[in-house]
Amino acid sequence: MFNKVLIANRGEIAVRVIRACRELGIRTVAVFSEADEDSLHVALADEAYCIGPAPATRSYLHIPSLIEAASKAGVDAVHPGYGFLAENAHFAAVCKTWGIEFIGPSPEAIETMGLKSRARETMMRAGVPVVPGSDGTVNSDEEAMEIAEEIGYPVLIKAAAGGGGRGIRVARNRDEMIEALASARREAEATFGNGAVYVEKFLEEPRHVEIQVMADKHGHIVHLGERECSVQRRRQKLIEEAPSPAVDADLRARMAEAALRAAAAVDYVGAGTVEFLVDRYGNFYFIEMNTRIQVEHPVTEAVTGIDLVKEQIRIAAGEPLSFRQDDVRFNGWAIECRINAEDPGNRFLPSPGTITAWEEPGGPGIRVDSGVRAGSVVQPYYDSLVAKVIAWGRDREEAIARMERALAEFRIEGIKTTVPLYREILAREDFRQGAVHTRWLEEEVLTGS
Ligand code: ADP
Ligand code: ADP
Ligand code: MG
Repeated sequence: MFNKVLIANRGEIAVRVIRACRELGIRTVAVFSEADEDSLHVALADEAYCIGPAPATRSYLHIPSLIEAASKAGVDAVHPGYGFLAENAHFAAVCKTWGIEFIGPSPEAIETMGLKSRARETMMRAGVPVVPGSDGTVNSDEEAMEIAEEIGYPVLIKAAAGGGGRGIRVARNRDEMIEALASARREAEATFGNGAVYVEKFLEEPRHVEIQVMADKHGHIVHLGERECSVQRRRQKLIEEAPSPAVDADLRARMAEAALRAAAAVDYVGAGTVEFLVDRYGNFYFIEMNTRIQVEHPVTEAVTGIDLVKEQIRIAAGEPLSFRQDDVRFNGWAIECRINAEDPGNRFLPSPGTITAWEEPGGPGIRVDSGVRAGSVVQPYYDSLVAKVIAWGRDREEAIARMERALAEFRIEGIKTTVPLYREILAREDFRQGAVHTRWLEEEVLTGS
């Protein structure tokens, strides 16, 4: 097992990884930008190194500074968390060059799945159903229009290097195509440094259902069931749950089989998520694979009892999976709410500032993963996620009741958060029925804003 691990991240996921390391008896090394010196992940780690100024490009995304800290601290491995460099094949390769284990899949697997257009091609070859669309990226507006006519409008233009819901545009007809292509390319270039785009059929009212997979270096590969992530705003997840109210045993088995095939096609190692869209008839289509731990992993942990982050670390250290497929048992229901420092009453404007009061909920079935505490300053430079509340119950009704109780207990002052919106959502009859799709929140709940 490793002696020392550097966590190349900040906020709640850095805290989550530090906790996993501590349970495994591994020493932890935090890194921080000048804006994050007083943050929780720095306080909890055994050692901490400043890696540069506040803007992420000069700190959390700056590979030379991270490698320098890793060398100084003498770590055996780096955990990238999610976001930042987690899906950067170059970073994974650089770590290898320096003799540092990257806790994640191979640079090749990251690269194949990282370009979503290439991932689609790989999946088609592996016999995994994909959303109808272009073979690879589109090289011209004419090519994009031809494909759109062929599959039928509406279509989505998607950034090949995309993530976090960015660089995606809808086009309902030929006229809208020109503007959609231009703006998707522009956002893709600005956000990912790669303007390549591809075309997909725009599915009406699908659900987002994803399968968690886990593979070790000894050829064992398992799935840990699905997560439903259809409550979204601007294609970003806000509430997730496991299992999905829309998935029965037969659909679960078919989706899991496809996800395992997807992972095997790239010789996957570590924790990964295969994302699908599911239509009302139970047809499912691959959209992408995230080659990292995911924000919503705790709901899977809650229903399986398996610690995904510890398992990731063990796998990277060369240990075989600590369980087999037959050992995976699903127990009860779990829901997660992402607590973002945003004002849902004002177009979700980011709400940075000092947290003057912070009292987390507790009690039966409640877990809170947070990156802040009372007195923390929410920085404008980074993602607005400050905490996650996870509620577990024997069934969905109990999980919802516990989440409602926890959100009512949560006392946060000094910043605006998405908590009031979640209380509104949880109270709705359609949510309670599980009758949601990826545009449900925007079309049915946020209509006034
Ligand atoms: P998850 O499915 O884990 O919830 P998200 O799409 O919410 O994934 O992404 C998690 C975090 O990673 C967010 O902060 C998001 O902005 C960031 N992220 C995801 N993909 C990329 C990417 N390709 N480049 C940069 N940041 C990304
Ligand atoms: P990202 O890499 O930004 O996470 P995804 O391809 O995973 O992008 O898609 C993000 C979200 O966008 C999905 O969860 C879904 O809500 C929506 N979406 C993506 N592709 C389609 C599609 N073909 N039809 C309808 N909605 C889609
Ligand atoms: Mg996605």
